[in-house]
Amino acid sequence: MTKILIIYTGGTIGMVNDPSNGMLIPFDFQQIKENVPELNRLDYHLDVHSFHPVLDSSNIDPEIWKVLAELVYSKYDLYDGFVILHGSDTMAFTASALSFMLENLSKPVVLTGSQLPIGEIRTDAKENLITALEIAATKENGRALVPEVCIYFDAQLFRGNRSIKYNSEKFEAFRSPNYPILAEAGVHLQFQKNYILPAPNDKLNLRTNFNANIGVLKLYPGITPQAVKAITDSEVDAIILETFGSGNTTTAAWFLDSLRTAIHRGKIIIDISQCKKGSVQLGRYETSRELQKMGVVSGFDLTFEATVTKLMFVMGLKLSAADSRKLMEKSLRGELTND
Ligand code: ASP
Repeated sequence: MTKILIIYTGGTIGMVNDPSNGMLIPFDFQQIKENVPELNRLDYHLDVHSFHPVLDSSNIDPEIWKVLAELVYSKYDLYDGFVILHGSDTMAFTASALSFMLENLSKPVVLTGSQLPIGEIRTDAKENLITALEIAATKENGRALVPEVCIYFDAQLFRGNRSIKYNSEKFEAFRSPNYPILAEAGVHLQFQKNYILPAPNDKLNLRTNFNANIGVLKLYPGITPQAVKAITDSEVDAIILETFGSGNTTTAAWFLDSLRTAIHRGKIIIDISQCKKGSVQLGRYETSRELQKMGVVSGFDLTFEATVTKLMFVMGLKLSAADSRKLMEKSLRGELTND
């Protein structure tokens, strides 16, 4: 019988109203089972591992990513797939982080959650949970059909490291702006096999060392030297530069000098666009040519979430700055397109 491990971390999916102040607070996983009797009707063996305490996903950080990755790793041989119940707010970060930590993954790790608590009549939680379980259990010729870390939400399956939380109110909370969905759940579960990563033959490899010492510099017209230098002159090891359009910035000399100095001091600077869709193309316009010359790394079409987690992951590998830059521009788990 197919065996799935459900890992419950917290989030709206398992929340109730605190009658004393009307705020949503997490409750114990037992209540999820009570609220979804359908789980008992599935033809799978389901085990549940619940976090104590359960977490709103805004409190999930690299330490928790490590706990999750180690849990999947330690139970890997015992289960056919994993479903992680997680708050939607930072789900795309966790999914991206797990994709980097779990190298040579050949089983599904499906993250899901909901916009409405599971106990509410109009909840989206049941469909999300039940279909996520089905996806985690799906096999073809004895092998998992989706050997990836992915997010299932509102009838769509996304590659985890390509997804972003896009809407805080609609059931359609996630999008994957630069990569097609992996499956759609209508009357049938329709997988887009061409877009799913092939299963590797090598053994699962776990790498959990993250270096979170990064900074983010989001550009806007009128940004001051003080605001830029607060990041470029700081003690961070790497900087995510959120630029305009296809990777463009002001060409003001003080700005370019600040970046150049930071790179000379050994910092990695990666350029991603403030546009959700499309790719950075360094050197396409004059306003990005200098960045390319000084050694700014292209983030191509990476999401912000994948950039943060990949940067922390790559820096955790403790390679030379040159090798780290190379890895950042290469697709490790299908997170970017660089051709
Ligand atoms: N604040 C919640 C969380 O991310 C929202 C959700 O679960 O969707 O944990």
